[in-house]
Amino acid sequence: QAKAAGRNAICFFDPAMQAAVTERATLHADLREAIRSRQFELHYQVQVDTRRRPVGAEALLRWRHPHKGLLAPGGFIELAEETGLIVPIGHWVLETACRQLARWAQRAQTAHLRLAVNVSARQFRQPSFADEVRALLESTGAPAERLKLELTESSLIEDAEAVIERMQALRALGIRFALDDFGTGYSSLAYLKRLPLTQLKIDQSFVRDVMSDPNDATIARTILALGSNLGLAVIAEGVETEEQYDFLAAQGCRDYQGYLFGRPVPMEVFEAALAQAQG
Ligand code: C2E
Ligand code: MG
Ligand code: MG
Ligand code: MG
Repeated sequence: QAKAAGRNAICFFDPAMQAAVTERATLHADLREAIRSRQFELHYQVQVDTRRRPVGAEALLRWRHPHKGLLAPGGFIELAEETGLIVPIGHWVLETACRQLARWAQRAQTAHLRLAVNVSARQFRQPSFADEVRALLESTGAPAERLKLELTESSLIEDAEAVIERMQALRALGIRFALDDFGTGYSSLAYLKRLPLTQLKIDQSFVRDVMSDPNDATIARTILALGSNLGLAVIAEGVETEEQYDFLAAQGCRDYQGYLFGRPVPMEVFEAALAQAQG
């Protein structure tokens, strides 16, 4: 008894744990300030077709932290989800992406590009989500057919009927849906088939070792076959080497994203690279 209590007492005053709690509180306050003083940016990573032609980009959130420099979402997105701050952040992301799409639509060289935007489960579950997207499309003038929302399986597990209804409302506007990190979740195929998806995104964890791990190669091949059977396009993420690209292309993969083709970069850099690719 005494021993157990002693352990708890030690745990309670554990300085490492205390530090973690403090850090979390600081990060939470910093995140709120980041929303207020507009410290977020979007970077854009190119997506290419089998012939390596740019077909669009994924918008990826970055935080220009006043002391810590440029932060990728890994360090803050979880806390943003837990605290609900992802809702205003996600709204800013969508608005910024729609503004960008509207600009692309005005130039012949960029009018064909699609822009993929990550939507967190919590954001997608807001009952007002579809209305917000519709309002943003209207206020920015972005073409809905060029907007692709990336959902993960965790967005889709709650309340199937409501999810499908919400997706269909957005599909009716012309918006497309990709299922991100595909292969890492637990959705049943019967359920997937009911969703108005347009694309499956092979998770990068399978792409990484596709040449060395036969299980990952099998999973990648299976996702490609599944896409073809369900009439869904498949994109591979995290493609870093020519070998991975060749393997996936031989298996019928249609689109690709990864450092082999380009890293996430600010829009000026993205557009300069695009102009160069277009000759
Ligand atoms: P994701 O949507 O699966 O995005 C792909 C991630 O893989 C990005 O990380 C990208 O930079 C990285 N990546 C792309 N190509 C390669 C490659 O060849 N090799 C490697 N090692 N990595 C590659 P990032 O930007 O750090 O974003 C991480 C995750 O944060 C995203 O994963 C997404 O789940 C989330 N996220 C990013 N932006 C947003 C956003 O605006 N809203 C929400 N809710 N989540 C976001
Ligand atoms: Mg994504
Ligand atoms: Mg992904
Ligand atoms: Mg991922």
